[in-house]
Order: sequence, then structure tokens, then C-alpha cells
Amino acid sequence: MTIEVQHIRKEFGQFTALDDVSLKFPDGQLTALLGPSGCGKTTLLRIIAGLETPDQGRVLLDGEDASGTHVRERQVGFVFQHYALFKHMTVFENVAFGLRVKPRRERPSEQQIRDKVRQLLELVQLDWIADRYPPQLSGGQRQRIALARALAVEPRVLLLDEPFGALDAKVRKELRRWLRRLHDELHVTSIFVTHDQEEALEVADQVVLMNKGHIEQIGTPDQVYNHPASPFVYGFLGNVNLFHGRVHEGVLASGDVQLQAPQHADVRDTEAIGYVRPHDLDVERYAPGLAGIVATLRRAHAIGPLAQLELERADNGELIEAAMSSERYGRLGLKEGETLVVRPRRMHVFVDEGANI
Ligand code: ATP
Repeated sequence: MTIEVQHIRKEFGQFTALDDVSLKFPDGQLTALLGPSGCGKTTLLRIIAGLETPDQGRVLLDGEDASGTHVRERQVGFVFQHYALFKHMTVFENVAFGLRVKPRRERPSEQQIRDKVRQLLELVQLDWIADRYPPQLSGGQRQRIALARALAVEPRVLLLDEPFGALDAKVRKELRRWLRRLHDELHVTSIFVTHDQEEALEVADQVVLMNKGHIEQIGTPDQVYNHPASPFVYGFLGNVNLFHGRVHEGVLASGDVQLQAPQHADVRDTEAIGYVRPHDLDVERYAPGLAGIVATLRRAHAIGPLAQLELERADNGELIEAAMSSERYGRLGLKEGETLVVRPRRMHVFVDEGANI
């Protein structure tokens, strides 16, 4: 099912939770709604589900206005962060619940229910705990059962609100990979709310980055990470160094250094900021005549495949974060206190709104 929201506005008293939000959720894709706490992700999800009514705008389900359609008729499956499974029912009965409460003429036979529940428990790889009760399950198992329960009624769309938010980092990582594989098998149009950028980039086909009730960017994980549309997107999706300066004729003058601004940067003769990710910085030992930012290595540590370096600029004292492979770091044999030269391999330049006000 395709879902489209058009010009959605939602206010809570004086507060605008969603401000003219329009976007499409393509059929069979997994979309992540990503953004900081309070940016309106859950409110948008609840409006799509029919649990909340927008003040303006509409929701189209397969092209049809869903305004008059009740939650139950929208055929959505939900999984929430704290999904309350029925504690007094076994896992099996929890998954069967949605089928048992169907109106009599739509209700499957007892045998069909048994087959379906078995099938779903196999799908979430928990058929071996069918007779247990929820308090006897781990957090990760509970969320997988919640997902099986949501899928039992064959929803046309699956809405997941921070489904792994309450789990520890390791289980979270396992479950998001598992969710991706499950989605590849089922292809149900799914919307996944998260404030964890790594989770969104790893799991989603489409990422919608939200901020203060509006959309900053929509794109594939590659598009939003490598071609951020705004400083907010850049900053939200990972660590970043900021080089403040002035752009003139394609060059960003920052402190004593001239940095080549990228061709696409539509920034001319203005105060600007160069955004550079730590791994997009080339680091070399200082030698006279080498172009780049001269800096002192303050701290460095190599854990696993990546070495992280903290440097201090010689011209203005600002800190720079750089990253390189541990292998290269070992080969260079850098020592804390050494003078190095740093050069951005890739940089995005945005107008410095603060400086131009
Ligand atoms: P989080 O990740 O913290 O859940 P979110 O992006 O999902 O955040 P929402 O839950 O959509 O954000 O809330 C958006 C804003 O609207 C918040 O500031 C919240 O306090 C406010 N809000 C949400 N529901 C209500 C309500 N029923 N009454 C008043 N304010 C509300």
C-alpha cells in the first residue's frame, strides 16, 4: 500500500507539533522517520494510523482519502517501544489474539488460527517458546512476539514506534538486522520511528529527517548521509568538524588557510561554514610548504579498525576530530604533541546563518 500525507498541520494548544508536512511512503518500502526528541515523529505516525486527527491536511491510503476511515479499517499493525503483551496469555495466545477477536464471518477456523500462529512464530524464530508467558521472555523476544502479533491480521501497513528503544545496544543491533531481513521477506509498507541515526541509516530504504515539526530532507540513506541538504542534517547524522570562514571565488578562507569549496556549493562572497566528517580529513606529518591546516596532535586512540585523533589548530586553537584506519595510524607512528597537516578530502559548505543575521 502507498501512503501519502499532504499538508499536515497539528497543534497542541500553542505548540505546533507538525507544520505543513507532505510526503510519500512508497509501496513495500521501509521508511524511517528520524529526528530529535519532540520533532513530531510519533504524532505523524499516530495521524497515519488514525489515532490522531490533523488540524489541516489529509492522509491518502492507496490514493484514497482516509479521513473518514476508522483505525480498525485502515488495516495497520502497530509495534510500540513498550508494547503491552497480555501477561496472563501465552505467547501463542498473544499472537492469536487479533485473529480470535475478528467479527465472526471473517474469523478463521481454530485449525487455521493454529497454522497461522505457528507460521508467524517460525517467521520471528520463536516457535520454541509458544507456551511461555510474557514475563518469562527477554525484552528482545517480547518485541519479536509483538511484531508477530501485529503481523497476524495481515496488515497493509506496519507502524513501528521506537520498537527497540528500550533494549540494550547489542540486542538492538541484532534486532534491527533481523527486522530488515524480515521486511525483505514480507515487503509490507512499513514506517519506523527512531531518533537513532545509525539505526535509520542501516535499516531503511527511505529516510525522512524531521526537525521541529517539519521535514529537513527525504532520501535514501546514502543521499541523506553523503548529500545532506542542510547543516541540521549534516550535524544530526554523525560527527562533524566546522570550519568557519568567508567564501570568495570558490575558496573558503578559514583562519590562515584557504580551503577549496566544492563546485556544487551555491555559496558566494559570504560568511560560511565548511562541514567535514572526521574520516574525510587527510592527515599527514608536517613539512614546510604542505598546503592545509596546521595542527597539533593532542590525543589519539586506535580501537578496532578505526583510529580517532583529536587535533588543535595552530592558527585559532579550535579542535579538529579526524579518523583513519588503525592500520594507517600504526604505519605513520604518530605521537601526541606532533605537528601535523590536515586537509579536507570532502567538504560541504553552507551559508553561516548566524554570521549573516
Ligand atoms: P520522541 O522521540 O520524544 O517521542 P517525537 O518526535 O515522537 O519525540 P512527538 O511525540 O510527536 O515527538 O511530539 C511532538 C511534540 O508535540 C512534543 O513537544 C510533545 O510534547 C507534543 N505533544 C505530543 N502529543 C501531545 C499531546 N497529546 N498534548 C500536548 N502536546 C503533545
